[in-house]
Amino acid sequence: MGTRAATGRTHAVRTALIAAAASALLLGLAGCMAASEAGATTDPNDDRPVVLTTFTVLADIAENVAGDNLRVESITKVGAEIHGYEPTPGDIAKAAEADLILDNGLNLEAWFAQFVDGLDVPHVVVSDGVDTINIAEDAYEGLPNPHAWMSPLNAQIYVDNMEAAFAELDPENAADYAANAEAYKAELQLVHDELTAELAELPATQRALVTCEGAFSYLARDSGLTEQYLWAVNAEQQSTPRQIASVIEFVRANDVPAVFCESTVSDRAMQQVVEATDASFGGTLYVDSLSEEGGPVPTYLELLRHDADIIIAGLTGASQ
Ligand SMILES: [Zn+2]
Repeated sequence: MGTRAATGRTHAVRTALIAAAASALLLGLAGCMAASEAGATTDPNDDRPVVLTTFTVLADIAENVAGDNLRVESITKVGAEIHGYEPTPGDIAKAAEADLILDNGLNLEAWFAQFVDGLDVPHVVVSDGVDTINIAEDAYEGLPNPHAWMSPLNAQIYVDNMEAAFAELDPENAADYAANAEAYKAELQLVHDELTAELAELPATQRALVTCEGAFSYLARDSGLTEQYLWAVNAEQQSTPRQIASVIEFVRANDVPAVFCESTVSDRAMQQVVEATDASFGGTLYVDSLSEEGGPVPTYLELLRHDADIIIAGLTGASQ
Protein backbone atom coordinates (compact mmCIF):
# COMPACT_ATOMS: atom_id res chain seq x y z
CA MET A 1 0.00 0.00 0.00
CA GLY A 2 1.03 3.60 -0.61
CA THR A 3 1.49 4.59 3.01
CA ARG A 4 3.44 1.47 3.77
CA ALA A 5 5.86 2.09 0.89
CA ALA A 6 6.33 5.70 2.01
CA THR A 7 7.00 4.57 5.55
CA GLY A 8 9.51 2.05 4.23
CA ARG A 9 11.37 4.78 2.36
CA THR A 10 11.42 7.11 5.36
CA HIS A 11 12.67 4.20 7.37
CA ALA A 12 15.48 3.51 4.90
CA VAL A 13 16.50 7.16 4.88
CA ARG A 14 16.47 7.26 8.66
CA THR A 15 18.59 4.09 8.79
CA ALA A 16 21.14 5.63 6.47
CA LEU A 17 21.24 8.84 8.52
CA ILE A 18 21.72 6.96 11.76
CA ALA A 19 24.47 4.85 10.20
CA ALA A 20 26.17 7.99 8.88
CA ALA A 21 25.87 9.75 12.23
CA ALA A 22 27.25 6.67 13.98
CA SER A 23 30.31 6.39 11.77
CA ALA A 24 30.99 10.12 11.95
CA LEU A 25 30.80 9.98 15.71
CA LEU A 26 32.91 6.87 15.98
CA LEU A 27 35.59 8.44 13.78
CA GLY A 28 35.41 11.56 15.90
CA LEU A 29 35.78 9.55 19.05
CA ALA A 30 38.73 7.59 17.74
CA GLY A 31 40.38 10.63 16.18
CA CYS A 32 40.48 13.41 18.67
CA MET A 33 38.24 12.98 21.67
CA ALA A 34 38.89 11.23 24.92
CA ALA A 35 36.08 8.71 25.28
CA SER A 36 34.90 10.24 28.55
CA GLU A 37 34.23 13.61 26.92
CA ALA A 38 31.51 12.29 24.63
CA GLY A 39 28.82 11.81 27.26
CA ALA A 40 27.72 15.15 28.67
CA THR A 41 26.65 13.68 32.01
CA THR A 42 29.78 11.62 32.58
CA ASP A 43 31.42 12.18 35.92
CA PRO A 44 35.18 12.03 35.22
CA ASN A 45 35.82 10.61 38.70
CA ASP A 46 33.37 7.76 38.22
CA ASP A 47 35.35 4.90 36.71
CA ARG A 48 32.75 2.18 37.27
CA PRO A 49 31.79 0.14 34.19
CA VAL A 50 28.82 1.68 32.36
CA VAL A 51 25.70 -0.39 31.62
CA LEU A 52 23.21 1.16 29.22
CA THR A 53 19.64 -0.10 29.04
CA THR A 54 17.11 0.74 26.34
CA PHE A 55 14.40 2.00 28.73
CA THR A 56 13.80 3.09 32.30
CA VAL A 57 12.12 -0.09 33.56
CA LEU A 58 15.17 -2.17 32.60
CA ALA A 59 17.46 0.42 34.18
CA ASP A 60 15.68 0.10 37.52
CA ILE A 61 15.82 -3.71 37.47
CA ALA A 62 19.51 -3.55 36.45
CA GLU A 63 20.31 -1.11 39.29
CA ASN A 64 18.86 -3.54 41.78
CA VAL A 65 21.16 -6.28 40.49
CA ALA A 66 24.21 -4.02 40.03
CA GLY A 67 24.15 -2.32 43.42
CA ASP A 68 26.86 0.34 43.53
CA ASN A 69 29.34 -1.61 41.43
CA LEU A 70 28.15 -0.45 38.01
CA ARG A 71 26.80 2.79 36.60
CA VAL A 72 23.42 2.05 35.01
CA GLU A 73 21.73 4.48 32.63
CA SER A 74 18.73 4.34 30.32
CA ILE A 75 18.99 5.48 26.70
CA THR A 76 15.32 6.58 26.55
CA LYS A 77 14.13 8.97 29.23
CA VAL A 78 11.12 8.82 31.54
CA GLY A 79 7.87 9.13 29.58
CA ALA A 80 9.45 8.35 26.20
CA GLU A 81 7.64 6.25 23.59
CA ILE A 82 10.07 3.34 23.39
CA HIS A 83 8.81 1.22 20.50
CA GLY A 84 9.36 3.76 17.73
CA TYR A 85 12.09 5.78 19.45
CA GLU A 86 14.63 7.48 17.20
CA PRO A 87 18.12 7.45 18.74
CA THR A 88 20.00 10.75 18.70
CA PRO A 89 23.68 11.16 17.79
CA GLY A 90 24.21 11.74 21.53
CA ASP A 91 22.69 8.32 22.29
CA ILE A 92 25.04 6.71 19.79
CA ALA A 93 28.06 8.48 21.29
CA LYS A 94 27.02 7.35 24.74
CA ALA A 95 26.50 3.76 23.59
CA ALA A 96 29.91 3.70 21.91
CA GLU A 97 31.61 4.21 25.26
CA ALA A 98 29.39 1.91 27.31
CA ASP A 99 30.77 -1.39 28.61
CA LEU A 100 27.53 -3.33 28.19
CA ILE A 101 24.13 -2.67 26.60
CA LEU A 102 20.97 -4.43 27.78
CA ASP A 103 17.93 -4.60 25.55
CA ASN A 104 14.55 -6.25 26.09
CA GLY A 105 14.43 -8.00 22.72
CA LEU A 106 11.21 -9.61 21.37
CA ASN A 107 11.09 -6.75 18.83
CA LEU A 108 10.33 -4.19 21.55
CA GLU A 109 13.04 -1.81 20.41
CA ALA A 110 12.44 -1.58 16.66
CA TRP A 111 15.37 0.82 16.46
CA PHE A 112 17.87 -1.28 18.36
CA ALA A 113 19.47 -3.50 15.69
CA GLN A 114 20.56 -0.47 13.66
CA PHE A 115 21.59 1.29 16.81
CA VAL A 116 24.15 -1.32 17.91
CA ASP A 117 25.22 -2.16 14.38
CA GLY A 118 28.80 -0.94 14.09
CA LEU A 119 29.26 -0.47 17.84
CA ASP A 120 31.96 -2.59 19.42
CA VAL A 121 30.04 -3.03 22.69
CA PRO A 122 28.63 -6.33 23.97
CA HIS A 123 24.87 -6.48 24.29
CA VAL A 124 22.63 -8.92 26.11
CA VAL A 125 18.95 -9.61 25.46
CA VAL A 126 17.44 -9.79 28.94
CA SER A 127 14.19 -11.54 27.94
CA ASP A 128 16.10 -14.66 26.79
CA GLY A 129 14.42 -17.76 28.22
CA VAL A 130 10.97 -16.21 28.78
CA ASP A 131 7.97 -18.33 27.75
CA THR A 132 6.54 -15.83 25.28
CA ILE A 133 2.94 -15.17 24.29
CA ASN A 134 2.30 -14.45 20.63
CA ILE A 135 0.28 -11.45 19.47
CA ALA A 136 -3.03 -12.71 18.12
CA GLU A 137 -3.93 -10.03 15.60
CA ASP A 138 -2.85 -6.92 13.77
CA ALA A 139 0.30 -6.35 11.74
CA TYR A 140 2.17 -8.13 14.56
CA GLU A 141 0.16 -11.35 14.44
CA GLY A 142 2.27 -14.37 15.38
CA LEU A 143 5.16 -12.31 16.77
CA PRO A 144 5.96 -12.53 20.48
CA ASN A 145 4.38 -9.85 22.66
CA PRO A 146 7.40 -7.81 23.78
CA HIS A 147 6.00 -6.71 27.18
CA ALA A 148 7.32 -9.73 29.06
CA TRP A 149 8.43 -7.65 32.08
CA MET A 150 4.80 -7.04 32.99
CA SER A 151 4.95 -10.43 34.73
CA PRO A 152 7.15 -10.37 37.86
CA LEU A 153 7.91 -14.05 37.19
CA ASN A 154 9.39 -13.13 33.81
CA ALA A 155 11.31 -10.32 35.50
CA GLN A 156 13.04 -12.99 37.59
CA ILE A 157 14.40 -14.38 34.31
CA TYR A 158 15.52 -10.86 33.32
CA VAL A 159 17.36 -10.69 36.67
CA ASP A 160 19.13 -14.01 36.05
CA ASN A 161 20.27 -12.81 32.63
CA MET A 162 21.52 -9.52 34.10
CA GLU A 163 23.35 -11.31 36.91
CA ALA A 164 25.18 -13.52 34.38
CA ALA A 165 26.02 -10.52 32.18
CA PHE A 166 27.32 -8.46 35.11
CA ALA A 167 29.40 -11.37 36.45
CA GLU A 168 31.04 -11.67 33.05
CA LEU A 169 31.61 -7.92 32.77
CA ASP A 170 32.97 -7.59 36.31
CA PRO A 171 33.96 -11.04 37.71
CA GLU A 172 35.49 -9.54 40.87
CA ASN A 173 32.03 -8.57 42.11
CA ALA A 174 30.20 -11.69 40.93
CA ALA A 175 29.25 -12.66 44.50
CA ASP A 176 27.59 -9.24 44.97
CA TYR A 177 25.54 -9.67 41.80
CA ALA A 178 24.44 -13.14 42.88
CA ALA A 179 23.35 -11.86 46.32
CA ASN A 180 21.59 -8.78 44.88
CA ALA A 181 19.80 -10.93 42.30
CA GLU A 182 18.63 -13.38 44.96
CA ALA A 183 17.26 -10.60 47.18
CA TYR A 184 15.51 -8.81 44.32
CA LYS A 185 14.00 -12.02 42.97
CA ALA A 186 12.51 -12.63 46.43
CA GLU A 187 10.89 -9.16 46.24
CA LEU A 188 9.54 -9.95 42.76
CA GLN A 189 8.06 -13.20 44.08
CA LEU A 190 6.36 -11.26 46.88
CA VAL A 191 4.86 -8.74 44.43
CA HIS A 192 3.71 -11.58 42.16
CA ASP A 193 2.03 -13.35 45.10
CA GLU A 194 0.34 -10.09 46.21
CA LEU A 195 -0.86 -9.17 42.72
CA THR A 196 -2.28 -12.56 41.87
CA ALA A 197 -4.00 -12.84 45.28
CA GLU A 198 -5.55 -9.36 44.91
CA LEU A 199 -6.63 -9.86 41.31
CA ALA A 200 -8.06 -13.29 42.19
CA GLU A 201 -10.58 -11.48 44.43
CA LEU A 202 -12.23 -9.88 41.39
CA PRO A 203 -15.60 -11.47 40.63
CA ALA A 204 -15.67 -13.74 37.57
CA THR A 205 -17.80 -11.19 35.71
CA GLN A 206 -15.28 -8.37 36.23
CA ARG A 207 -12.10 -9.93 34.99
CA ALA A 208 -11.73 -8.08 31.69
CA LEU A 209 -8.79 -5.71 31.34
CA VAL A 210 -9.38 -3.22 28.50
CA THR A 211 -6.37 -1.03 27.63
CA CYS A 212 -4.99 1.07 24.75
CA GLU A 213 -1.95 -1.12 24.06
CA GLY A 214 -2.00 -4.91 24.29
CA ALA A 215 0.72 -4.76 26.92
CA PHE A 216 -0.90 -6.90 29.60
CA SER A 217 -0.87 -10.39 28.08
CA TYR A 218 1.68 -11.66 30.61
CA LEU A 219 0.01 -10.12 33.67
CA ALA A 220 -3.32 -11.43 32.37
CA ARG A 221 -1.82 -14.92 32.06
CA ASP A 222 -0.44 -14.75 35.64
CA SER A 223 -3.70 -13.55 37.15
CA GLY A 224 -6.45 -15.06 35.00
CA LEU A 225 -7.69 -11.82 33.42
CA THR A 226 -9.08 -11.52 29.89
CA GLU A 227 -7.41 -8.75 27.92
CA GLN A 228 -8.80 -6.56 25.18
CA TYR A 229 -7.05 -3.60 23.57
CA LEU A 230 -7.21 -0.90 20.93
CA TRP A 231 -3.92 -1.74 19.28
CA ALA A 232 -1.38 -4.53 19.76
CA VAL A 233 1.84 -2.52 20.00
CA ASN A 234 2.42 1.21 20.57
CA ALA A 235 4.50 1.51 17.41
CA GLU A 236 1.11 1.85 15.70
CA GLN A 237 -0.30 4.15 18.38
CA GLN A 238 -3.37 4.61 16.32
CA SER A 239 -6.64 2.79 16.39
CA THR A 240 -8.79 2.24 13.34
CA PRO A 241 -12.55 2.86 13.58
CA ARG A 242 -12.92 -0.94 13.29
CA GLN A 243 -10.74 -1.54 16.36
CA ILE A 244 -12.58 1.10 18.39
CA ALA A 245 -15.93 -0.40 17.36
CA SER A 246 -14.81 -3.88 18.34
CA VAL A 247 -13.63 -2.70 21.79
CA ILE A 248 -16.94 -0.85 22.28
CA GLU A 249 -18.79 -4.03 21.42
CA PHE A 250 -16.67 -6.04 23.86
CA VAL A 251 -17.20 -3.51 26.69
CA ARG A 252 -20.97 -3.48 26.12
CA ALA A 253 -21.28 -7.26 25.78
CA ASN A 254 -19.29 -7.90 28.97
CA ASP A 255 -20.58 -4.97 31.04
CA VAL A 256 -16.98 -3.89 31.63
CA PRO A 257 -17.07 -1.26 34.41
CA ALA A 258 -13.81 0.53 33.59
CA VAL A 259 -11.24 0.86 30.80
CA PHE A 260 -7.64 2.05 30.98
CA CYS A 261 -4.83 3.57 28.93
CA GLU A 262 -1.03 3.66 29.30
CA SER A 263 1.07 6.64 30.32
CA THR A 264 3.15 6.89 27.13
CA VAL A 265 0.24 7.28 24.67
CA SER A 266 -2.81 9.50 24.19
CA ASP A 267 -6.04 8.20 25.75
CA ARG A 268 -8.20 9.97 23.13
CA ALA A 269 -9.40 6.77 21.44
CA MET A 270 -10.20 5.17 24.79
CA GLN A 271 -12.27 8.23 25.76
CA GLN A 272 -14.40 7.45 22.69
CA VAL A 273 -15.03 4.01 24.16
CA VAL A 274 -16.00 5.64 27.49
CA GLU A 275 -18.43 7.97 25.71
CA ALA A 276 -20.05 5.15 23.76
CA THR A 277 -20.48 2.74 26.71
CA ASP A 278 -21.33 2.64 30.42
CA ALA A 279 -17.66 2.10 31.33
CA SER A 280 -15.75 4.78 33.19
CA PHE A 281 -12.14 5.70 32.54
CA GLY A 282 -10.28 3.75 35.23
CA GLY A 283 -7.00 5.60 35.01
CA THR A 284 -3.48 5.57 33.64
CA LEU A 285 -1.42 2.40 33.70
CA TYR A 286 2.38 2.36 33.47
CA VAL A 287 4.11 -0.18 31.23
CA ASP A 288 6.78 1.19 28.91
CA SER A 289 8.23 3.80 31.25
CA LEU A 290 8.64 4.62 34.92
CA SER A 291 7.57 8.04 36.20
CA GLU A 292 9.88 10.78 37.45
CA GLU A 293 11.28 10.42 40.96
CA GLY A 294 8.36 12.20 42.70
CA GLY A 295 5.70 10.55 40.47
CA PRO A 296 3.52 7.49 41.12
CA VAL A 297 5.94 4.81 39.82
CA PRO A 298 9.61 5.75 40.20
CA THR A 299 10.56 2.04 40.44
CA TYR A 300 9.51 -1.13 38.63
CA LEU A 301 8.07 -2.72 41.80
CA GLU A 302 5.96 0.40 42.37
CA LEU A 303 4.85 0.27 38.72
CA LEU A 304 3.48 -3.27 39.21
CA ARG A 305 1.72 -2.38 42.49
CA HIS A 306 0.32 0.86 41.08
CA ASP A 307 -1.15 -0.88 38.03
CA ALA A 308 -2.73 -3.62 40.14
CA ASP A 309 -4.29 -0.98 42.46
CA ILE A 310 -5.69 1.03 39.52
CA ILE A 311 -7.05 -2.09 37.81
CA ILE A 312 -8.74 -3.38 40.98
CA ALA A 313 -10.18 0.04 41.90
CA GLY A 314 -11.53 0.45 38.34
CA LEU A 315 -13.01 -3.01 37.97
CA THR A 316 -14.64 -3.02 41.43
CA GLY A 317 -16.03 0.48 40.94
CA ALA A 318 -13.93 1.86 43.81
CA SER A 319 -12.36 4.54 41.63
CA GLN A 320 -15.68 6.27 40.89
ZN1 LIG B 1 4.57 -0.97 24.85
